[in-house]
Amino acid sequence: MKTIDTAKEMQGEALALRAAGRSVGLVPTMGYFHEGHLSLMRRARAENGVVVVSLFVNPTQFGANEDLASYPRDFERDRAMAEGAGVDIIFSPTPESMYPPGFRARVEEMGVNKKLCGASRPVHFDGVTTVCAKLFNICLPSRAYFGMKDAQQALILEMMVRDLNFPLEIVKVPTVRESDGVAMSSRNVYLKPEERETAALIPQALNAARAAIAGGERKASALVGAIRNTLESSPLAKIDYAKVVNTRDFDEVELVEEGCLVAVAVNIGKARLIDNLIV
Ligand code: AMP
Repeated sequence: MKTIDTAKEMQGEALALRAAGRSVGLVPTMGYFHEGHLSLMRRARAENGVVVVSLFVNPTQFGANEDLASYPRDFERDRAMAEGAGVDIIFSPTPESMYPPGFRARVEEMGVNKKLCGASRPVHFDGVTTVCAKLFNICLPSRAYFGMKDAQQALILEMMVRDLNFPLEIVKVPTVRESDGVAMSSRNVYLKPEERETAALIPQALNAARAAIAGGERKASALVGAIRNTLESSPLAKIDYAKVVNTRDFDEVELVEEGCLVAVAVNIGKARLIDNLIV
């Protein structure tokens, strides 16, 4: 496995791979790997000649009061895990090389970037679309892999790829969970034991919504009520949002429809945790 730490070298490598007719699968990450990341890497391994994992804690997708400085990092551990998953190249650029002095371009998806997570994290998705546009141009992938834990992110990137004609496919990978249902996340390390117990209410709340739908409930307000009831059983869970939205423009629906997204964001201690289910 190769480690590359400048955009110039990575793009040179990607151009050479393209000239040799090799297809690249890209897995963009912020590191501190867990099974969720590994499932993306394995899927990319199965579907591409070459697998590139980018590891970059992208400063532009963090708000001023967010956890950029404290975001967990362990490059050596990540390297070993990526190598074990059959990754060919880790691209791990410095912030200075991605955003040199004078950098001022931005890619903005303007339909849903301020909804759901974008409402409480107003700069977040513009940072994500800008860094992914850069990563796509640097790594030249045929496919790029994203987890459905971050459903809004994956859908926004699909819209960007469609609207700006990026010649690649966004592949969406199901959420990997801990044994108690909690979605794996690098941010779970922020949770103290009692908070980690509270986090288990999130998949329980989504399961309550799923059960209500299976039982014939169609009113979004009833599903949101079931979710809120479950989460509010712990004073440690501070709900940011619990919503049922369509995946076209992320507007709230009154009645559930096929393909709609039931999404929650909950602050527990220092962690902001998100999870969802697609109906
Ligand atoms: P991150 O390093 O947290 O930015 O995540 C990198 C990629 O891994 C994103 O596409 C995430 O959606 C995906 N990912 C994170 N957690 C999970 C999970 N539990 N299951 C599946 N994919 C995940």
